[in-house]
Amino acid sequence: MVRQEVADRVATLKDRGKSVGLATVLVGEDPASQVYVRSKHRAAEKAGMLSFDHGLPGDATQQMVEDKVRDLNRDPAVDGMIVQLPLPAGLDGNRAVETIDPAKDADGLHPYSLGLLALERGFLRPATPSGIMRILQHYDIATSGKLAVIVGRSFLVGKPMALLLGAKGVDATVVQAHSRTKDLAALTKKADILVAAIGRPGFIDGSQIKRGAVVIDVGINRTDEGLVGDVDFDSAVKVAGAITPVPGGVGIMTVASLLANTVAAAEHAVS
Ligand code: NAP
Repeated sequence: MVRQEVADRVATLKDRGKSVGLATVLVGEDPASQVYVRSKHRAAEKAGMLSFDHGLPGDATQQMVEDKVRDLNRDPAVDGMIVQLPLPAGLDGNRAVETIDPAKDADGLHPYSLGLLALERGFLRPATPSGIMRILQHYDIATSGKLAVIVGRSFLVGKPMALLLGAKGVDATVVQAHSRTKDLAALTKKADILVAAIGRPGFIDGSQIKRGAVVIDVGINRTDEGLVGDVDFDSAVKVAGAITPVPGGVGIMTVASLLANTVAAAEHAVS
C-alpha cells in the first residue's frame, strides 16, 4: 500500500519532468549490509526511482566517506541518500550521517531531522520508527492512553520511537527501557504496546507479555536457525493480540518509509 502510494507520487513527479533518485553509501563488504542495500535498491527501482549504489572499500577513511556524502549532496539527481550503518570499526557513523544535507536525509537520522521530530515538526522521519507507526495505523491499533513500553534507546530506533508514540495526537504513555532497567519483565507485562529493539535473539518471551498486547519486534538477529527477532515468536504469539514477524515485519516497513522519505524530499525540492 505505502509502496503503491510512493510509486504513484514518483510517477506524478516524472510527468512534471522530475525523476526521483535514491543513493546509498555502503562501506566495506559486510554481507548483512549488502543484503539490506540490495533490497533498498530493488524497492526503489520497483517504485520507479533511480537508484545509485556507491560502494567504498572496507579500509576507506572517514574523509573518503564524508567526501562521498558531500558529492551526493551536490548531485541534483539524488533526492534522498543513506549511509548504511554500522560503518566498519574505526569509522564514525554519526559524523558521516551529520554530513548528509538534511534535505536529502532519507533515513531521517540527521540531528536536524531528529530535532524537528522532537519538536513534532518536519517531514523526514527515522525510517524504522515511522514504518512502525504505519503498521499501527494500517491495523487501526489504538494508541491514545495506552501504555507503550519500548525496550531499547538507540538513536536509530528506540529514542525516535518514543518521540513518535508519545507525540500529541498519538498520545501513548511511553516508558523507555534499556540495559539498566530494573525488573524489565514487570514493565513489559504491563505494556499494551511493546516494542522490542534490543538486538538479542528471542530476548522477550510470552511469559513477559500481557495477554492481548500489540508486540512490535524490531530485532534482526542472525542465528544458526536463520533470521530471528528479539521476541520469541512461538511463545509470544500465544499471548499477544497482534505481533509482527521476523523477517517480513518491521524490516519491510522500514524500506517503505525510506522510499516515502525520498519521494517527500523530491517533492519538497520542486515545490
Ligand atoms: P543498539 O544500538 O545496539 O541498541 C540496543 C538497545 O537495547 C540499547 O538501548 C540497550 O540498552 C538495549 N539493551 C541491550 N541489552 C538489554 C537488556 N538486557 N535489557 C534491556 N535493554 C537492553 O541496537 P539498535 O540499532 O536499536 O537495533 C536493535 C535491533 O533492531 C537490532 O537487532 C537491529 O538489527 C534491529 N534493527 C532492525 C531494523 C529493521 O528495519 N527491522 C532497523 C534497525 C535496527 P543500553 O542503551 O543501556 O545499552
